[in-house]
Amino acid sequence: MLTWFRNVWLAVASISRGMFVTLAHFVQTFRRKAFTQRFEYPEKPVPLQPRYRGFHRFDLTACIGCDKCARACPVDCIYIDKEKAAPPAKGFVVTGFKIDYTKCMFCALCVDPCPADCIYMGSTYDISCYTRDGCVVDYAKLPLEVAWGQDTLNPTAVHASKRVSLPVWTKAGLGERSA
Ligand code: SF4
Ligand code: SF4
Repeated sequence: MLTWFRNVWLAVASISRGMFVTLAHFVQTFRRKAFTQRFEYPEKPVPLQPRYRGFHRFDLTACIGCDKCARACPVDCIYIDKEKAAPPAKGFVVTGFKIDYTKCMFCALCVDPCPADCIYMGSTYDISCYTRDGCVVDYAKLPLEVAWGQDTLNPTAVHASKRVSLPVWTKAGLGERSA
């Protein structure tokens, strides 16, 4: 008989504990503010963690066009255009540095191999666009203070940089070969 009462008590106590947890969360959902009320996004930036990986920061003046970042990228989403520097200068002049954000997975594997420390993961999280081509950002066309900006990419400048006339994944001569 005693065991029976103990089992009943255990069942009632454990169900009550479970219901209390459920009720507490139920009440919290009513007291909790919506995301836009808490952060006032987009009027105010959303607070980020210190090691947040957002859109890249890139310094065109330091880049030597070595392609190491593009080779390290596991999804091949960095496209570098470069020309031989005019003598007496040596090396390359980088004329295009496009990153396709429809493919980028923000893994940061492009950052470590860079010998010139000119590419980093930035803290920008918001570059909206209306077409898939708009997701390709050409950092060589952005003003340096925007591309290398600490916190944010200026949306107007980013929009201007997206005027890519051809899809970047079109390989030169591919059409001639297949014709
Ligand atoms: S973060 Fe990763 S996926 Fe994106 S460009 Fe760099 S290596 Fe490629
Ligand atoms: S690894 Fe660095 S220096 Fe080399 S192409 Fe990439 S960004 Fe430029």
